[in-house]
Amino acid sequence: MRIRLLYLLAGLFVFLSCETKEKNEKSMNDLEKNPLLAEWDTPFGVPPFDKIKSEDYLPALKKGVEEKRADIDAIVNNKEKPTFKNTIVALELSGKTLSKIMGPFFAVRGANTDSILDGTAKIMAPEFSKLGDDVRMNPNLFKRVDAVYKEKDQLDLSAEDLKLLEETHKQFIRAGVNLSEEKQQKLRKINTRLATLSQEFGDHLLNETNDFELYVTDKKDLGNASPALLAVAAKEAKKRGHDKGWSFTLHRPSINPFLQASPNPVLRKKIFNGYAMRGNNNNENDNKKILEEMASLRLQAARLKGYKNHAAYILSDNMAETPENVYKFMDQLWTPALNRAKRERALLAKKMKSEGETKAFEASDWRYYVEKIRKEKYNFNEEETRPYFEVTAVRDGVFMLAGKLFGLQFKELKNVPTWHKDQQVFEVLEADGKHLGVVYLDYFARSSKRGGAWMNELRAQSNVDQFVTPVVTTNFNFPPATVEMPSLLSFTQAQTFFHEFGHALHGLLSNVKYESLSGTNVPRDFVEFPSQVMENWMSEPEVLRLYAKHYKTGKVIPDALIKKMNEANDFNEGFRTVEYMAAAYLDMAWHTIQDTTLQESNAFEKKAMDKIGLINEIIPRYRSTYFSHIFSGGYSAGYYSYLWSEVLDADAFQAFKESGDIFNQAIAKKYRKMISQGGTKKGMDLYKEFRGREPKIDALIEKRGLK
Ligand SMILES: [Zn+2]
Repeated sequence: MRIRLLYLLAGLFVFLSCETKEKNEKSMNDLEKNPLLAEWDTPFGVPPFDKIKSEDYLPALKKGVEEKRADIDAIVNNKEKPTFKNTIVALELSGKTLSKIMGPFFAVRGANTDSILDGTAKIMAPEFSKLGDDVRMNPNLFKRVDAVYKEKDQLDLSAEDLKLLEETHKQFIRAGVNLSEEKQQKLRKINTRLATLSQEFGDHLLNETNDFELYVTDKKDLGNASPALLAVAAKEAKKRGHDKGWSFTLHRPSINPFLQASPNPVLRKKIFNGYAMRGNNNNENDNKKILEEMASLRLQAARLKGYKNHAAYILSDNMAETPENVYKFMDQLWTPALNRAKRERALLAKKMKSEGETKAFEASDWRYYVEKIRKEKYNFNEEETRPYFEVTAVRDGVFMLAGKLFGLQFKELKNVPTWHKDQQVFEVLEADGKHLGVVYLDYFARSSKRGGAWMNELRAQSNVDQFVTPVVTTNFNFPPATVEMPSLLSFTQAQTFFHEFGHALHGLLSNVKYESLSGTNVPRDFVEFPSQVMENWMSEPEVLRLYAKHYKTGKVIPDALIKKMNEANDFNEGFRTVEYMAAAYLDMAWHTIQDTTLQESNAFEKKAMDKIGLINEIIPRYRSTYFSHIFSGGYSAGYYSYLWSEVLDADAFQAFKESGDIFNQAIAKKYRKMISQGGTKKGMDLYKEFRGREPKIDALIEKRGLK
């Protein structure tokens, strides 16, 4: 996943203690001393995290909003005739302070939040929403933008200037600048309400995830759980006040290995249901009412803007263009995927029965029996590979790959301030030693960090008056190291490392003029392409041999284990495709509704899943009440993007494969050229420049075994 600033605006959590309020008020008085507003005298101008305190953000953000408004007023009140420079570029460069501090704010908010930052987010979410509306619904500002736009063919603009002009103009139209005053008022209300609701959704989800605990005292309920998992679970139990035993949580690195290992179906069901019912427990953290209202409000907003539904509105600005195209794309893969999952189900149920279990095979049993079959059929146990994926070994693998493909070098920076002691920071250099940018790595799960993995930009690349180098962060929820054990990653977690680093490279390799078109500022169904493509290299034997080394012995992962691992991973591909696609269909269902009356969340979800024939033994990867991508993460009508991007990444990787050299320098150069152009061209045009043709779906079908 990759988070854009504006998307994150919606993903904030709610809390404001009295203490916070006092602190915030106090610091309003000393803006001069606020480190966020001062010159950043640090290596490469990175944020001075060692000096910034949580209470500094609110006054600095408010100051930033004020400045942005003043900049906008100056553009509007300019007596000169509107020009590309005094209007479009001026708008692009407006609000410098705000863009400077939004980067660190959202990064820290996502990765290391506290009650003060929560409070700040609660205050600022509606402010940001209002600021956005005030800029993009400003009729006088639009008059100037429109005047330049109408002359665009006579202005002799470069391709990138023209793209900036078109994108700027489009944003005003999409925000509803041409609507009547009355409709605009309605839209503003809806936008503010949506900002608040989406914050509450994320807040509830974090609470529900943190609140749950499965406490186990009998070792035999843990089956063949790895020592690494046991160490983390024992530490968690201590943290939760038990003097012995193991605690498991709903964080994926805890629940998934438990479901794979525990022979106790009752406990499996308990933790599985804990996960699947998050936000659906009719308590103070329930998300049903919130998401029902959000779906209705999004439809209302889309209608006001003249679209038939929210998906039609969102997709008109993406590669897919229409909901019909998304459905057409997914429908051709769904049935083969479902059939494959049904074959897997039959095998798993048979396995369970053969072990003398008489109960019905259920969703909570799936992972356990997958591991059993993997072990028997392929003699493979996921825990066997963990010792080869120690977190720093994987990091070195990622660095080596970037070196082999693009000649990049990485130098650790020890003198750079971080927001958490566990973080590492690296300078990224070109082959010839030229400085390219800075990357932060924040590896481990903790309660102050949101779930999942993501990348964000502390500073985006641009080149208007001078070249501004990018500073990016990647964030993970890997198992923390314990006294006994370093952080050992599962195959999937190692894959996630490569994925997020692909986003980081997209930001780091950017070479454009304008920030709003740079790096990862591309359509959402293109943005997962540069990240997912990295996953292809991750499991290639040639690449594994470079980095997958045993943390104790330093021995390279044996070829036989690689072979077993790849075969065994292939085994559950039907399940993986189906659980993902079910969520993508669910997202589309919520955002193609035609009726603004509130839907009943559980009934709606069931109907949508029945319609595609989803089997009971698989639930969507995200159910509605914890579908943070779409209700608090900015991926509404966009969850399909991962699969859409996979068409591109599978086809792109095929280009390397076909050449007989997965590090082919000529192709890597072309690839780099493509992603360095950010959003300055249409996604399909960029791809065609790279591959010489449109992407074909064949490589994806082959990879996922969906023939
Ligand atoms: Zn991603």
